Amino acid sequence: MAASKDVYLIIGGSGFLGRHIVNQLLERGDNVSVFDIVQRYHDVPFYSGDISEKDQVAVALRKSGTTCIIHVASPPHGLKDPSLYWKVNVDGTKAVIAAAQETGVQKLVFTSSAGVVFNGSDIIDIDERLPPPEKPMDAYNDSKAHGEAAVLEANGKGGLLTVALRPAGIFGPGDHQVMAGLYAVYEKGQTHFQIGDNTNIFDWTYVENVAYAHLLAADKLSLLPPAPPFDELPEDEKKHYS
Ligand code: NAD
Repeated sequence: MAASKDVYLIIGGSGFLGRHIVNQLLERGDNVSVFDIVQRYHDVPFYSGDISEKDQVAVALRKSGTTCIIHVASPPHGLKDPSLYWKVNVDGTKAVIAAAQETGVQKLVFTSSAGVVFNGSDIIDIDERLPPPEKPMDAYNDSKAHGEAAVLEANGKGGLLTVALRPAGIFGPGDHQVMAGLYAVYEKGQTHFQIGDNTNIFDWTYVENVAYAHLLAADKLSLLPPAPPFDELPEDEKKHYS
C-alpha cells in the first residue's frame, strides 16, 4: 500500500523562497497551505499569523491538517532593530516546534543560513560539523544559529522529525533583497569601491534549486534508521558518492 501523502504548511510562504516551495508542491499535486504575517497570493489556503504566537501556529496546523511544516519565515537581514531577530527566529521557531509537537505534526524542515558559521574570513571545504563562531557576525546570523539549534535539538522528540538547511545567497525571480541591494549601490554611483582584494568568493544558488532541496529534505524525513557513515557503506555503494 502506498504511504499517505504529507499535508504541507509553508511558514513564510508569502516570501521569495517560500513562494517557490509552494509552486513546486502545487506542481507535483500536493496539499499545501501558507502561514505568514502578510498575504501575497490567493491560490492556496492562507493562515494569517505571527510565529511568535504559538497558538496562532497551532490553530493553522489543526485547521489545515498539516503533517509537514516547511518553516522559511524570518525578518530580512540588515534591520536596524536587532530584537526582532531573536523574537522571530529564536522564540518564534521554538513556538513553531512546540505547536508542531502539540498538534502531532511529524516533520519540520527549517531554513537556516550559511551565515550561521561565517566568521568574517573565507571558509573553504567545510561541512555541517563546523560550529558557529564564538563571536557571531551579527544579530541576524546569531538568531538563525540559535533557531537552527532548537530545531535540531527537537529531532525525534514528541513524534517530530526535523532537519535544517543552510543556503548561502539565493537569487532568482521574486528576489527583493539581493538585486535591490546591488541596484541601490549602482544608483548611488558606488561602483568604483572594491571590497577586499578582488578574490572574495561567495556561494549563490538559484532559488528553484533551494526550493527543490527543501522538498527533497522533507521527502527524506522518515522514521527509517539514519544512513550509516560513509566509511561503513559497502564499496559498491560508495562509488555513487565519488
Ligand atoms: P522573504 O523576506 O522573502 O520571506 C520571508 C517571509 O517570512 C515573508 O513573507 C515574511 O512576511 C514572513 N515572516 C516574517 N516574519 C514572520 C513572522 N513573525 N511570522 C510569520 N511570517 C513571518 O525572505 P527569503 O529571502 O524568502 O528567505 C527565506 C528564508 O531563507 C529565511 O529564513 C532566510 O533567513 C533564509 N535565507 C535567505 C537567503 C537569501 O539570500 N534570500 C539566504 C540564506 C538564508
